Amino acid sequence: MSTARENQKFKELNISKETLKAVKNMGFRQMTDIQNEVIPKALDGSDIVATAKTGSGKTLSFLIPAIEMVTKFKQKQATFCIIVSPTRELAIQTHSVLEDILGFHDNLTSALIIGGENRQAQSIQLSKGVHIVIATPGRLFDHMRTKEFEYKNVCCLILDEADKIFQYGFEEDLKQIINRLPKNRQTMLFSATHSETTEALIKSAMKDDFHTINTNED
Ligand code: ADP
Ligand code: MG
Repeated sequence: MSTARENQKFKELNISKETLKAVKNMGFRQMTDIQNEVIPKALDGSDIVATAKTGSGKTLSFLIPAIEMVTKFKQKQATFCIIVSPTRELAIQTHSVLEDILGFHDNLTSALIIGGENRQAQSIQLSKGVHIVIATPGRLFDHMRTKEFEYKNVCCLILDEADKIFQYGFEEDLKQIINRLPKNRQTMLFSATHSETTEALIKSAMKDDFHTINTNED
């Protein structure tokens, strides 16, 4: 049985007024269960493995901490955060939520790097050093093998729908991506279900003291 527990409101979080304004503009005041669990820990820089069913609000639970982290470094034009999505559709959708929040921030940049789009144009965009990159695994790895994309400043990696990344055959790309990124970073893994496949990835990608959050079980 679930206990009646009031989740925190977004305004109670230690976040920028720009992000808060954007969330308010989306019509949200109170956090969902997963947001309530994830956001405070993620803001502290912890590694996180979060399992919560579809529609529970996982997107904002990683976008808000990612944006807040990047605001600290935004003077420098470099890539600090990479979000990996299993499909073009999900990447596009997540990018659109990100843009909604970034609309209230000055000088924060993002790029959508997905397969099927012009590589050269993406390469030019990446070479300028965009703060947050949302990408599908295959195309991201392609760019990581070029000198145009500088990723040595990346300090936050987010894997959304991690189970699907495996399911769709991107395991090898993902391993290569993780291997090449700076080791000293925050990693957050999100999934609707927990599986043994993600278990191995978790061990290789996370710091030992990561937080496990599962709102599917009460
Ligand atoms: P998930 O990734 O867990 O499947 P999403 O992040 O896509 O879920 O969110 C599902 C829906 O819930 C979206 O329409 C989103 O706009 C909405 N939503 C997110 N956070 C909140 C909130 N705090 N209050 C109300 N609705 C929310
Ligand atoms: Mg989602």
